[in-house]
Amino acid sequence: MEKKNIDWGSLGFGYIKTDYRYISEYKNGSWDEGTLSTDDTVRINECAGVLQYAQTVFEGLKAYTTEDGRIVTFRPDLNGERLKSSAERLEMPVFPVDRFIDAVVETVKANQAFVPPFGSGASLYIRPYMFGTNPVIGVKPADEYQFRILTTPVGPYFKGGAKPITIRVSDFDRAAPHGTGHIKAGLNYAMSLHAIVDAHKQGFDENMYLDAATRTKVEETGGANFLFVTKDNKVVTPKSDSILPSITRRSLIYVAKEYLGLEAEEREIPFEEVKEFAECGLCGTAAVISPVGKIVDHGKEICFPSGMEKMGPVTQKLYDTLTGIQSGKIEAPKGWIKEIC
Ligand SMILES: *Cc1c(COP(=O)(O)O)cnc(C)c1O
Repeated sequence: MEKKNIDWGSLGFGYIKTDYRYISEYKNGSWDEGTLSTDDTVRINECAGVLQYAQTVFEGLKAYTTEDGRIVTFRPDLNGERLKSSAERLEMPVFPVDRFIDAVVETVKANQAFVPPFGSGASLYIRPYMFGTNPVIGVKPADEYQFRILTTPVGPYFKGGAKPITIRVSDFDRAAPHGTGHIKAGLNYAMSLHAIVDAHKQGFDENMYLDAATRTKVEETGGANFLFVTKDNKVVTPKSDSILPSITRRSLIYVAKEYLGLEAEEREIPFEEVKEFAECGLCGTAAVISPVGKIVDHGKEICFPSGMEKMGPVTQKLYDTLTGIQSGKIEAPKGWIKEIC
């Protein structure tokens, strides 16, 4: 397979058109058989449900090359399950999980030439998504939908090492109790744009959202879950019904317990407790873990002992172990690595 002539190491996180995308259409109560297309445009009615009432959900995962030259992806079954629960919450038809996995495999296979080589730090980002396509003007679910998968090569998240970031406690809320914070829906991101643009203006990398009801408990950032390490090396992560269940975070908790022999727990975390922690990181597919060096709460700074130069030691071990599992250097738990070709 001849690779595309791309400078893999200097890729950022942006859209680059690849050769094929997957499309399946839902009409009259069922999904069609699905197809690959070379057309990178979508043609829908001006009154489509997605355009008027934001009926859209998505997923994000990566395909990459292992040391021995295989192209693989990480736990796509969990992305398929999560897309299912996102769709159900927005009254959309479910794209079956087994078909989701097959479609991911088919799309990546067709775009093999865009999967970055081992060692480049780059990967092929996979974006499955679904949206209502037929005209809807009275507020109700659409009757017709498209499920699509686009892929785009993305660069290494950290160029020249993972530098800890500074985040602020946000005055905006991300998700209401009993709302949609636990699903991967575009609407959660639309309303976070103002908060992140403002955070950047003020010199912060990210927003820490607290629970909307009491503003006393840690939730997550706009696109990543928190992971903390206590001074006695226990890994803790917030538990809340309005947090998006990160696959990376769930995998890291497993790695902490089963590979590193650490105690790990998911529980409510009062913001008051944050200053007691030794390490802090953000977890998600994009970076696996981004270390957090400092949290600013309305001028009051919390500086983690791990500092602003590098990841804390436990965070680093978690990062090395999970990325080792993903790249094939460390044996993966059964079912975690899906071989594409
Ligand atoms: C996608 C996402 C995450 C990270 O989930 P992963 O499955 O680890 O990529 C965390 N928080 C939010 C709000 C997200 O949308």
